[in-house]
Amino acid sequence: MLKRGKPLKRSYIKRRKKPKKRRKKTARKKLLDKLWKVCSLYIRLRDIKKYGGGCPLCNNNPIQVAFHFLPRGIKIIKYDPINLVGACKNCNFHEMKTRGADFRYEKWFIANRGQEEWDRLNKLKYTIVQYSLDDIEKMIKKFEGLIE
Ligand SMILES: [Zn+2]
Repeated sequence: MLKRGKPLKRSYIKRRKKPKKRRKKTARKKLLDKLWKVCSLYIRLRDIKKYGGGCPLCNNNPIQVAFHFLPRGIKIIKYDPINLVGACKNCNFHEMKTRGADFRYEKWFIANRGQEEWDRLNKLKYTIVQYSLDDIEKMIKKFEGLIE
């Protein structure tokens, strides 16, 4: 059995193991969080104005979130206002749970935004994009400008 008099000193090891890269990623992550926050706010404000506050997908609940038609994991269209709509939490949850199995949101999209836009988004699905910090900052400014 190991007896401990005082706590093990780990701080030195911890500090050494922290790579510099990770710190950079954190700054990037913070910027991406800020981008999503301002993008989501813009979408909700836009659609509260447009649809009078109610979720346009189900007409049952107030607009609470920014809803992605094609998954948020596809970076190139994650912040595309066409791929987003202000919706309620229920619709957002339902969509995430049934992705690929329930076409009601796809139908809504095509009825309201057109087949052409649907095809455009689907074509972009396979395009991989890596945003630079500058790109992210520009997008933040763009959405901030749209909100004002
Ligand atoms: Zn809804």
